[in-house]
Amino acid sequence: MRIKTIEPIAVSLPMLKPVIMAGEEVRRADNVLVRIESDTGLVGWGEAASAPVMTGETLESIVSAVHYLEQTVRGRDPADIAGALAAMDGRMYGNHGAKAGIEIALHDLTGRATATPVHALLGAKRRSQVALLAVIGGGDVDGDLRDAEKKKSAGFTAFKIKVGIDTPENDAARTRAICKILNGLLISADANQGFSTAEALAYVRAVEGSGLNFFEQPVMADDLAGMTAVAAATKIAIGADEGIHSLDDIAHHHEHKAARGVSLKAIKLGGIRAVVEAGRLCERLGMSVNISCKTGESSVACAAALHAACVIPNIAWALTLTHTALGEDVTAQPVSTANGHVDSLDRPGLGVEVDEDRVRRHRVPIATRNVA
Ligand SMILES: [Mg+2]
Repeated sequence: MRIKTIEPIAVSLPMLKPVIMAGEEVRRADNVLVRIESDTGLVGWGEAASAPVMTGETLESIVSAVHYLEQTVRGRDPADIAGALAAMDGRMYGNHGAKAGIEIALHDLTGRATATPVHALLGAKRRSQVALLAVIGGGDVDGDLRDAEKKKSAGFTAFKIKVGIDTPENDAARTRAICKILNGLLISADANQGFSTAEALAYVRAVEGSGLNFFEQPVMADDLAGMTAVAAATKIAIGADEGIHSLDDIAHHHEHKAARGVSLKAIKLGGIRAVVEAGRLCERLGMSVNISCKTGESSVACAAALHAACVIPNIAWALTLTHTALGEDVTAQPVSTANGHVDSLDRPGLGVEVDEDRVRRHRVPIATRNVA
C-alpha cells in the first residue's frame, strides 16, 4: 500500500463559549485536518490546531507546510511512520503542528489497514480508562465557582484553573475559593506565561496550603531562570507547557529544577510518537505528565491524544481533551466521555469517523502557492 494523496483542510469550528487565558482568547477553533488517502482507497485523518503563541503556526502556515512536505510523504508505505518523520525533518525544520497532523493521519491509516487501534501501534496499553482534566476558564469568580461545582458533581477528579489574567492577588483569591470546593482532588493552575517572576512568586505565596497541586507555566517559555526561581520558592509542583517543544527541553527543565512535570501536546512535539517518547523520558526523570490537546481541537486530535495517554508509563496530571468545548465536532460521534473519565478506543485506527459533510461545512478557503 502506498500513500496517494495528502490534503490539508483548514476548518474553523464554533466554540460553545470563548476560552479566556493569558495572552489568548479562543472564540473559534481554527484547525487544520489532514486527509491522507492510500492507493487502495483507505483514508486516514490527522489534525493540528493553529497555535501562533505556542508553536508559531497559523492556519495558513500549517496548510503551506503540509503542501511543502507532501512530496516527501507521497508514494511511501504509510506504515513506515519513522521513515516519514525522518524525511519530513530532512525537508523542513520545525513546523511541529503540520508534522503532527500528517503523523496522526499516518497512524490512523496504518491502524485501519492492519485492523489495529492506534495505541497498539504506539506501545503496550497500560490503562483502559484515563482521568480527564477539567478546565475552569471563565475568569470571573462566581462563574468559575459554579463551573467547579458542576464539574465536580459530574465526576471530574482533576482540574485546571486559568490564571495570569488578573492581578496575582485576585487570581490567588479566586484559586483559593475554587480549591475549597475541590478539596482533596487534583487541582492545578495555569498562567500560560502570563506572570512576571515577581508576580508568580506573589501568586504562589498567596496560594500555598490551599490544596493547589501544580502550577503550570508561570512565566515566559524561555525564562528558565524564572521557572527555577518560582519552583524554589514553593512546595507546589511547577509544570512546563509552552516551554516544552522537544525532549531536550524536558531534560533542561529537569536539570535546572525548573519543573517537576510537563504538559505534552502533539503539535508541540511533532506527533504522538514523540509524545509517547517524552512520556517515557519523564518516567525515567521522575516527572509528572499531563497530555493535552490545544483548546478547540476536535475528536480527531483528541482521539490521538487519548491513544498516547493509554500507553505512556504515568499520567499523574491527567488528560486534557478539548473537543467537548466545541459547538460542533467533525465526527458525528465525538470521543465519548463520562464521569470525568474517558475509555480507550479499541477500534482500528483512531477509532473515530470523520463526517466529510461537516468538514465541508466548516472549511475555510486558504490561498496557497503550489510547491514543486
Ligand atoms: Mg498550559
